[in-house]
Amino acid sequence: KEELNIIQGALELRSKTVEDVLTPLNDCFMLASDAILDFCTMSDVMQSGYTRIPVFENERSNIVDILFVKDLAFVDPDDSTPLKTITQFYKHPLHCVFTDTKLDAMLEQFKKGKSHLAIVQRVNNEGEGDPFYEVMGIVTLEDVIEEIIKSE
Ligand code: ATP
Ligand code: ATP
Repeated sequence: KEELNIIQGALELRSKTVEDVLTPLNDCFMLASDAILDFCTMSDVMQSGYTRIPVFENERSNIVDILFVKDLAFVDPDDSTPLKTITQFYKHPLHCVFTDTKLDAMLEQFKKGKSHLAIVQRVNNEGEGDPFYEVMGIVTLEDVIEEIIKSE
């Protein structure tokens, strides 16, 4: 029965999309790009328990960078280093996908690419103005794996 669940989960990768498994933007632990890496900010990061932290500018929907906790290895909280100094040094590429990306394709991208976190966006063409990209949340390799091994 365990095996059946896993096979079932694997088969569903073809029909489910990242929209079904993403972590909504409102639930994401993120940092503002103008943050200072003082003791307070660094302990927030450590306590969050997350390895990859999106960095936004002005508003949370505007993700401009990604910080890896390991980037903080040489940062001394007493120096009050601006977060920008670190993100500009590492310049990790952002990996973006659309909400309708199927989970099997997502898994393939995670396997090929270096990153195990992607920013999920959709084209918003509701309303009067021009269509724009709207960030919905983040998806990680873990979210896809979870879909395979979850037992119902
Ligand atoms: P790792 O296990 O590689 O150390 P992690 O524990 O930081 O990474 P994942 O295992 O990739 O995170 O993901 C676990 C869950 O947490 C997933 O549902 C993912 O969407 C979510 N997640 C990952 N990063 C964040 C974040 N910065 N804020 C909120 N949720 C996150
Ligand atoms: P992240 O993707 O969160 O930055 P990472 O790249 O350090 O993490 P994983 O993504 O967990 O590591 O693993 C990537 C590959 O590197 C896996 O095949 C894993 O087995 C291997 N790996 C991880 N840590 C080590 C290590 N200390 N020595 C050798 N291989 C490792």
